[in-house]
Amino acid sequence: MEYKLPPIGYKYNALEPFIDAETMKIHYTKHHQAYVDKLNKALQGYEKLQDKPIERILINLGRVPIKIRNAVKNNGGGHYNHSLFWPLLKKNVKIKEYLLNAIKKNFLSFENFKKEFTEKSLDFFGSGWVWLVLDDTKLKIVSTSNQDNPISEGKIPILALDLWEHAYYLKYQNRRAEYIENFFKVINWEQVNKNYLNGLIRL
Ligand code: MN
Repeated sequence: MEYKLPPIGYKYNALEPFIDAETMKIHYTKHHQAYVDKLNKALQGYEKLQDKPIERILINLGRVPIKIRNAVKNNGGGHYNHSLFWPLLKKNVKIKEYLLNAIKKNFLSFENFKKEFTEKSLDFFGSGWVWLVLDDTKLKIVSTSNQDNPISEGKIPILALDLWEHAYYLKYQNRRAEYIENFFKVINWEQVNKNYLNGLIRL
């Protein structure tokens, strides 16, 4: 079976003015689609792998034949990362008490969490992602290069920020700081909470 682009679940303009419709459209229909297409191409002739959820493949990258491992890591990662990213975006969602308490427990305060996440994102060099992850029972902020995902290192992604220029350049150009600041206005905390609870169950 071939991998497919998952539905995005909202209109391209749903995140305006923080993330513009044109960026969303290109990001989803061109960039994410390209990862899916290249993943399918890389897996041609590997039927057993084709039938696995992409998450399982990324957890066990070492079992992917060396010949296609890099292509699967990059394009499978691109597909998985963006599939996580779209549902994490929504305007006007308030964080719930349970998750807020967990964040306070791990980062002292929500403001401190935001500061750490922002600094990690600002300091990040090149293309990649910044994540809030579950590492054992602890919440941590980590970054990955390219389309790597923390799941390949045994951590469970809870929140994701795409720091590739394709994610913001049309609207923000070199103003990455402004993009990061506005990202905090479109975090779907309901989804973060869901990821957190699912992650706790899997530990
Ligand atoms: Mn992207």
